[in-house]
Amino acid sequence: MQLNFSGLRALVTGAGKGIGRDTVKALHASGAQVVAVSRTNSDLVSLGKECPGIEPVCVDLGDWEATARALGGVGPVDLLVNNAAVAVLQPFLEVTKEAFDRSFNVNLRAVFQVSQIVARGMIARGVPGSIVNVSSMVAHVTFPSLSTYSSTKGAMTMLTKTMALELGPHKIRVNSVNPTVVLTAMGQNVCEDPELARRLKERHPLKKFAEVEDVVNSILFLLSDCSTSTSGSGILVDAGYLAS
Ligand code: NAP
Repeated sequence: MQLNFSGLRALVTGAGKGIGRDTVKALHASGAQVVAVSRTNSDLVSLGKECPGIEPVCVDLGDWEATARALGGVGPVDLLVNNAAVAVLQPFLEVTKEAFDRSFNVNLRAVFQVSQIVARGMIARGVPGSIVNVSSMVAHVTFPSLSTYSSTKGAMTMLTKTMALELGPHKIRVNSVNPTVVLTAMGQNVCEDPELARRLKERHPLKKFAEVEDVVNSILFLLSDCSTSTSGSGILVDAGYLAS
């Protein structure tokens, strides 16, 4: 998708791998100055080689104090992509406190924290902004052994709407993208069983999963001025799954 983000500064979380990494590359190619936030430094080093000039920030977003230190002075940000997440597979009856806390801290609490930092800066500068929360179709449908993960994404639906409500008067738009399976490291882990993956794919009207590029295109659309009247909303990138 050809969009122009020249003159704008974007922050992407979970920038080291998968959807976040390709979002950074697309924003960089479209002229944005990008702050790339992720947990594994070697990922940020290799990303920096592919995208010269990006600003790497290595932090565990599940750690509130470390995140405050790493991003407290991040400076002006016009576009935010809350993408970092973990998906821990556990049957409901076996969900542990550790997995629950880790999932909610990374997938949801960090979205509150990073968005607060960024939105406060936008409001102080008096500039408009766009925030995209990377959610999932499992915010709306069930999937075996993903009760914790899908609960974080279900909560993200209401967070997206309440942020849109409260930040709208400051000309800050907030939306989500809700993909089906994407065969990144996370998607491969969730769809480890080839037979389950085949049957799941068949249940999609388009008979396929989503590609990373499909998700990135929807993120870029929501970040851009092509969607200036869209807020509190979500784009399903689900190959028709929710229609079935
Ligand atoms: P991925 O391949 O696992 O990549 C996730 C990235 O986020 C990695 O770079 C990871 O870094 C980083 N990250 C995770 N925890 C972090 C933390 N505590 N602090 C900082 N960075 C952290 O996942 P993906 O498939 O690209 O997923 C991206 C987003 O899409 C997520 O929000 C996910 O829920 C959503 N999504 C994915 C799928 C799918 O099937 N893949 C479907 C629907 C929605 P490390 O590897 O260093 O931890």
